[in-house]
Amino acid sequence: MSQNKLDQKKIKEAVRLLLEGMGEDPDRPGLLDTPDRVARMYEELLSGMNQSAGEPLSRVFPVESSGMVLEKDIVFYSTCEHHLLPFYGKAHVAYIPDGKVVGLSKLARTVEVFARRLQIQEQMTGQIADAMMEFLAPKGVMVVLEAEHTCMTMRGVKKPGSKTVTMAARGVFQENAALQEQFFQMLGR
Ligand code: ZN
Repeated sequence: MSQNKLDQKKIKEAVRLLLEGMGEDPDRPGLLDTPDRVARMYEELLSGMNQSAGEPLSRVFPVESSGMVLEKDIVFYSTCEHHLLPFYGKAHVAYIPDGKVVGLSKLARTVEVFARRLQIQEQMTGQIADAMMEFLAPKGVMVVLEAEHTCMTMRGVKKPGSKTVTMAARGVFQENAALQEQFFQMLGR
């Protein structure tokens, strides 16, 4: 995982330039602290760039059961890398353990690691599934993300509230319609 720290100075200069480009006066009282605020905001919004899913997924517990584990309605906020605008919604993460499980809060933290980056939803869905396979080595993983993209809904390209749904299946979930069916039943869809 890359260890790129944000260059606060560059971001501040860029935001100031952006304001000027918008025809604004970056020195008017309301905007004076905006470059600094935006730079600090990105530090938080992009904090996942410095993190690996190996952290939340490293503490595992042995289990004998191999029933499906589903953590649903994990709320996430991410940033679209095409427009630098938020997309946000819910992640549903399921896996079938192969002898080990992680604490349920760790699934939410795994989603967070990939959400707090410049992202596209399709890629984020696959990254969560692949990290689960890599660090937890389960029999299979299924990830569904449903999100509203403000770059679409704010601009009237699509109706407000419309959702983009993406799915990634790994291991035994691939090409197993019955298991996928069970996933959507547990999801209540
Ligand atoms: Zn976008």
